[in-house]
Amino acid sequence: MKCENCTKSECSKKKKKNESGASEDADPLAVAFADGEENEFHRLTEARIFLSDCMACGNCVTSEEGAQIFAQNQKAFFKVLNLNKKCDTSLHRLVVASVSPQSVPYFAVKFRLSVCEAARKLCGFLKSLGVQHVFDTTIAADFSILETQRDFIQRFRRQTQDEHAFPMFASACPGWMQYAERVLGDSVTPHICTAKSTQQIMGSLVKGYFASHKNLSPDKIFHLTIAPCYDRKMEALREDYYTALYKCRDVDCVLTSGEIMQIMEQRNFSIKEVEASPLENVFAGNTCEFVRHEGIGSDGYLAHIFRHAAKELFDMDVKEITYKTLKNKDFQEVCLEKDGETVLRFAAAYGFRNIQNMVLKLRKGKFHYHFVEVLACPGGCLNGKGQAQTLDGKPERATLHEMEEAYTLVPVQSPENNPHIQELYLNWLEGAESQKTREMLHTKLVPVSQAGARPDMKW
Ligand code: SF4
Repeated sequence: MKCENCTKSECSKKKKKNESGASEDADPLAVAFADGEENEFHRLTEARIFLSDCMACGNCVTSEEGAQIFAQNQKAFFKVLNLNKKCDTSLHRLVVASVSPQSVPYFAVKFRLSVCEAARKLCGFLKSLGVQHVFDTTIAADFSILETQRDFIQRFRRQTQDEHAFPMFASACPGWMQYAERVLGDSVTPHICTAKSTQQIMGSLVKGYFASHKNLSPDKIFHLTIAPCYDRKMEALREDYYTALYKCRDVDCVLTSGEIMQIMEQRNFSIKEVEASPLENVFAGNTCEFVRHEGIGSDGYLAHIFRHAAKELFDMDVKEITYKTLKNKDFQEVCLEKDGETVLRFAAAYGFRNIQNMVLKLRKGKFHYHFVEVLACPGGCLNGKGQAQTLDGKPERATLHEMEEAYTLVPVQSPENNPHIQELYLNWLEGAESQKTREMLHTKLVPVSQAGARPDMKW
């Protein structure tokens, strides 16, 4: 996401305005920030934000949003860690981090480790900084897939009465969501599933479930997420994800994998010396091993929903999913045939070029798919702009290739096989169809006409 409304000169002005309130015992990184000291860290941080790309154009972010995105940086994170070292306990917050599965392969490749070992080292590093809990996000991805699955079946059953039932688009990618809401508007938004993304379901779990089990109000928890792209920072700012009562967000700060790597470099991080520590699941106290869902560049929405729909709607067991490449490798199709008739037609459309083509066909009434897994980045989330990028914003192809290979080796777990899911539906969410499930696991899409378009936007 490009943030042209928050220019480098504006940001350096902001830095100069910062007061140096850091004490001698404060974190050296935070001191450097507070002093407005220009170092390699700064240059890298700013360049990464401003050189990253965007779905449509640089005008999709208002100046206020630009400032809020910029505020989600290493400084904000270290400010909280340093406050936790002060005597005034009223300022203390429990610091927890949620790690995106598509971020971990980046560290695995950089440190020449397996993905599972990299997850343990990353967790150990974050804990050495003062993060108290580091969560695996598999359970949140499980919820997101299961809710998308449920939406699909409901749409299939009401398709004759609902002109917007199909095609149904996945809602996992904030770059795509932002583009759909702000550029495409209400001709497309009713087609998008309302299930929250993995990051934001993690937000509900941490500030809802976990906070109540710790007997803490949500504002007493600082929730950091580590993500492969800057679009996740924008996502964390959505109105839906702010609780006015506690004046806090479900996700307080998003740092990209690249930004975490910068912190490691600043601290002369030694992979050998850092103690490995397993990721925790949100049921505090338990530890878990790193697993992934089917699908390399995504969380596997297409594969899971396809299998589930084949069984639920047509009583067919799909073992192998056969992808047919259409225009390019980022536009693939999967079909289910029964008695010589195509009964399910799914697609994966990655990258802006394919999204534009898809929307063009949709407008002409020539896009006949039931479900489309849409991701803004070509190749999917491993190719997010917050990791494995050159300084001029191009993908580091060799790293990306290695990341894909490393991720393939991670054991696959199906959402239905997560033993905690049904327990959470029952005890935390009060049932799969409850109001609480809708509030915790679903969002609202606000097309541009309702959101109030800026008159100077050029699409
Ligand atoms: S596809 Fe790209 S923009 Fe979308 S969530 Fe994944 S990394 Fe972020």
